[in-house]
Amino acid sequence: MPTDPTIPLRGRLAPSPTGALHLGNARTFLIAWLSIRSRGGKLVMRLEDLDHPKVKPAAADAACRDLRQLGLDWDEGDDCGGPHHPYRQSRRIAVYRAALAQLRAAGLVYPCTCTRRDVTAGQSAPHAGDYHRYSGRCRHRYPDFPAAMAVTGPRRLPAWRFIAPDRDITFVDGCCGPQTVNIARTAGDFVLARHPDGAGYQLAVVVDDAMMQITEIVRGDDLLPCTAWQILLYEALEYPVPTFIHVPLVVGPDGKRLAKRHGDTRISELLQRGNTPEKIIGLLAWSCGWAEFGEALSPADLLPRFSWSTIPRQPLVIDDRLNRYLGLTT
Ligand code: GLU
Ligand code: ZN
Repeated sequence: MPTDPTIPLRGRLAPSPTGALHLGNARTFLIAWLSIRSRGGKLVMRLEDLDHPKVKPAAADAACRDLRQLGLDWDEGDDCGGPHHPYRQSRRIAVYRAALAQLRAAGLVYPCTCTRRDVTAGQSAPHAGDYHRYSGRCRHRYPDFPAAMAVTGPRRLPAWRFIAPDRDITFVDGCCGPQTVNIARTAGDFVLARHPDGAGYQLAVVVDDAMMQITEIVRGDDLLPCTAWQILLYEALEYPVPTFIHVPLVVGPDGKRLAKRHGDTRISELLQRGNTPEKIIGLLAWSCGWAEFGEALSPADLLPRFSWSTIPRQPLVIDDRLNRYLGLTT
């Protein structure tokens, strides 16, 4: 990946504690860890716990524990501190409020009270992965967030939307290659957060990665479509834009993202069934082209073997053979 050698290399692991860590999360984090550690960089562990009410408090500690059991580590994080603390998004609301104020002062955001139905009304059903384009209906509608809240009532929060400029945004993804998107024509003005202070995924992830001086973002390719949105935020807030690398997900035999119905691939469950951490890491390494099937390895063993070029561009399918190998029968 092209990086400026004078800027310290920093990556991050950013689990959302909405459920237990599974094989798919572990694979992405292993790749993120190896990419940074193989070049002597630093890693941050940040808990993305803004998604109430889906966040389960115990899941945050469990995610850290599961990752450490697999042999992954980090230099800064919720469980070990560091200069950019706190490393838990629910404790960083003041930081998001300040960034939102900056965007508001620049006239780049506005509150929107539309429901999903308002947004989709009059549009044909989108293709898989497409977004309904938002028309900009609320752009000049409300003087401030409380005025919008008066319309939605107490049961639903308005959204902060960012005004999408009508121009191409281009970036080169480390895995998916060159990308060009005109957001005004695809998604339209997009949602930053549904929270008075801007504490929502799109704004929080950009502000945190910038504050924590992250230079490389490795994550699942389900997030590729929001990358151009996030680049706009980096630009609007005058932050340096990091490198993005979106890796293929782990899916079930039906090609859908790993879920409960595919069997229990929670890391804690796999360990409990007698799979050693080395067996799990070995399997993930095999899936990335770094090991023979059946090898037992630690993340540190993989440092000299790490390569981006062998990682298949297709999702990893957890099929019957792999389920049997892991002692999971579905
Ligand atoms: N917390 C997000 C997730 O677990 C990842 C966000 C990101 O990497 O940008 O899906
Ligand atoms: Zn609206």
